[in-house]
Amino acid sequence: KFSVDDKLSSRVAIWVGDITFLEVDAIVNAANNSLLGGGGVDGAIHRAAGSSLKAECATLHGCQTADAKITGGWCITLKYVIHTVGPRGEKPFELEKTYMSCLDLVKEHNLKSVAFPCISTGLYGYPNEPACKVVLKTIRNWLEKDDNADRVELIIFCLFLKSDIELYEQHMRKFFPCS
Ligand code: ADP
Repeated sequence: KFSVDDKLSSRVAIWVGDITFLEVDAIVNAANNSLLGGGGVDGAIHRAAGSSLKAECATLHGCQTADAKITGGWCITLKYVIHTVGPRGEKPFELEKTYMSCLDLVKEHNLKSVAFPCISTGLYGYPNEPACKVVLKTIRNWLEKDDNADRVELIIFCLFLKSDIELYEQHMRKFFPCS
């Protein structure tokens, strides 16, 4: 059970809609190992960012599962896109590592705000509820325990499906309770 910590809980938020509309320092892309574009949120980000993003991604030589790489935002007017590759199917340890790899880049680049889509729960078939719990636990622990986490002011969970809204609202109350 997680303790009440209003200050900590105020640093996470749910937002519903297209991740490319968010004004944050970085949005996270649930990409594939090639980093050359795909469907789902990956397709939406590449469409919004334009062909320069694909050109930059082509210089990165792909990305291993649960690893992350950073690029500019190009036509999306934000600083960065963090490209990561979630696991295929229900693999909690790998999903946690995927989020942690993104957070490492957030720290390294001194970013104050970041938005995550529901990585792996689309084409990669991770069931939504178990994924939601892994994500919230990972973020709660990171905010609480990581030495440099206090520099991050806002972590947004960008939801796209109606079913995820209910799930996140329900589990946010457990992982990030408020007084
Ligand atoms: P994965 O291959 O990691 O499963 P997907 O892109 O297929 O990635 O799905 C991940 C999540 O992103 C799903 O919940 C999907 O509904 C959502 N999604 C799709 N398009 C967008 C978008 N433009 N902004 C935010 N989330 C999106």
